Amino acid sequence: MFNLILFGPPGSGKGTQSEKLIAKYGFKHLSTGDLLRHEIANETPLGMEAKNFMDKGQLVPDEVVIGMISSALDNSADAKGFLFDGFPRTAAQAEALDKLLELKKTNIALMLALEVTEEELVKRLLKRGQTSGRSDDTNEKVIRARITEYQNKTTAVGDYYKTFDKVSIVKGEGTVDGIFNSLSEIIDKRM
Ligand code: ADP
Repeated sequence: MFNLILFGPPGSGKGTQSEKLIAKYGFKHLSTGDLLRHEIANETPLGMEAKNFMDKGQLVPDEVVIGMISSALDNSADAKGFLFDGFPRTAAQAEALDKLLELKKTNIALMLALEVTEEELVKRLLKRGQTSGRSDDTNEKVIRARITEYQNKTTAVGDYYKTFDKVSIVKGEGTVDGIFNSLSEIIDKRM
């Protein structure tokens, strides 16, 4: 199994690049944002709890997302590799993920970290908000709150994987295909 984390702030292009990476390498995509929005659309109790946090631009509690990822891993036991997108977002989530993967006798091979300036992120998210139907993308205050959550809680996840020498940083500005080629090159070297 080759498991990889696509890392970066909101609006850095994780969703866009995930789609292309999945098409090329056949990873199983696990996006906690997508899983949470699915729960919200189905009006499940988990979804209703998560929505309160998401609407404010805050992270959903660790135990909620860890439980969700744990079931998703169990439901795709035959995957040849997972691409984690938007997870882990806290140090506690990273440690929990490592334990879950260890139980499956596998691990994280690589973290690809997309770097984009804050002003570019806000611009992209407001633009996405015009068409995505995502309420958290239309309000600049919520967007800034998400970026602050990222800086306060999520950058630690990058530091965590750096201590295991698993992080490659990629500039997330430029053309979609150019960024995709950079990501692919790193994966091909590590696979
Ligand atoms: P983006 O990265 O563009 O902000 P996502 O779709 O990944 O969008 O996440 C949307 C929202 O879902 C986040 O702002 C957060 O509230 C919640 N969320 C997603 N993944 C996690 C996670 N791993 N831990 C906590 N909250 C999460």
